[in-house]
Amino acid sequence: MALTGVEIFKLLPKTNCKKCGHPTCLAFAMKLAQRQASLDACPDVSEEAKKILGEASAPPIRSIAFGSGDKAVKMGEENVLFRHEKKFVNPCAFAVELKDSMSDDEINKIVDNVINSEIDRVGQKLRIDAICITNTSGDAGKFESVVKAVSANAPAVSLILSTSNPQAAEAALKAVADKKPILYGADESNADAMAAIAKNNKVILGIIAKGLDALTALTEKIKGLGVEDMVIDSGARTAKEILEANTYIRRAAIKKNFKALGYPVITFAQRDDKMLETLIATLGVTKYSSIVVLSSIEKWKDLALFTLRQNIYTDPQVPMQVEQKIYKIGETTADAPLTITTNFSLTYFIVSGEIENSKVPTRLAVMDCEGLSVLTAWAAGKFTASKIAQFIQESGIENEVAKKELIIPGYVAILSGAIEDKLPGWKVVVGPREANGLPAFLRARA
Ligand code: SF4
Repeated sequence: MALTGVEIFKLLPKTNCKKCGHPTCLAFAMKLAQRQASLDACPDVSEEAKKILGEASAPPIRSIAFGSGDKAVKMGEENVLFRHEKKFVNPCAFAVELKDSMSDDEINKIVDNVINSEIDRVGQKLRIDAICITNTSGDAGKFESVVKAVSANAPAVSLILSTSNPQAAEAALKAVADKKPILYGADESNADAMAAIAKNNKVILGIIAKGLDALTALTEKIKGLGVEDMVIDSGARTAKEILEANTYIRRAAIKKNFKALGYPVITFAQRDDKMLETLIATLGVTKYSSIVVLSSIEKWKDLALFTLRQNIYTDPQVPMQVEQKIYKIGETTADAPLTITTNFSLTYFIVSGEIENSKVPTRLAVMDCEGLSVLTAWAAGKFTASKIAQFIQESGIENEVAKKELIIPGYVAILSGAIEDKLPGWKVVVGPREANGLPAFLRARA
């Protein structure tokens, strides 16, 4: 069970030294109890307290990763039921199913589609994250050879090996254990053998049971066999079942700190009807699945699901931002115009897109305004004449431009005089109010 703030306080040094950034040990204890602080922030906590508190402060849903390299998929670590409470941590991964009974052409097509699924949306790379290879042939040798071939053709793609046959699991894992795949398919009938294989190969075990009681019994049994890392499947397949089971699992883990269900959830959304499949997948994304398995890849489906996932897993308290710097768009020379905007991602991508459309090489100064758009940043006192002048001076751009001229967004035309006062030698030009006016504006001045 989770410790209360007072129980945590009793284990802290009680010196109120403030090194953790909190005024008292009690204040820090309260933050720890709410999972809004990390124990590492207190440098003086005893080893014994660390052990007790470390276990108590572990995320209610176990943090696990599968795959390797920079495309490894992180799961779990969630602390809340609703993202407005804090934020969701690790975005749900999408996997596409590939059956070992498929023809080589079908298999190669799926692998190619996964490799080429990546899209760029407001600066984030979004993709199908994994391939789930299912042993539908029932043949251990066939399963092993398909797993090997897929791994060789898509070395960076994370894998889920789906089989309930321990012999097939063992043979296939030998070839790819270093890629840290998930071995999915442990159930009541094969739990001992599958747990031993997962443990020996140090991989995550995916377990399936019919209903939450059976699932709880199975995770406890498998944990007792020495496997710590699991993904869980309650057997839910209809929309209603998935919604109910995933919600109960998340509530049990978060509200009751019920460790037997504190694992990432895998949801199988495959349907013959692709619209229905997409709908089921959206349910998984919205309600607590860490992995959603799809039957196929279509660009329309990817776009809908990627966009939903990106929105659900964006921290609502932190606007999406880009780095503060001066971006060069096109082959800029010293004569290229210099424009300025704020670092809200959408603003940056809209403005930079319009500059690209203009075909006029341009420098775009992007100023850190904590992710606010131009008007909001201006109203909040973050996009002011003083701050713009300071940013331009400190950027060193003065030494790179032939003409000291700064184009500001039309919405903040009111700042032009004040900026000129604070930036001696610079001329401020008022640009269009909307980004879509930029191409004509820049071409007219080129
Ligand atoms: Fe207390 Fe540790 Fe914070 Fe100091 S750093 S106030 S000892 S919790």
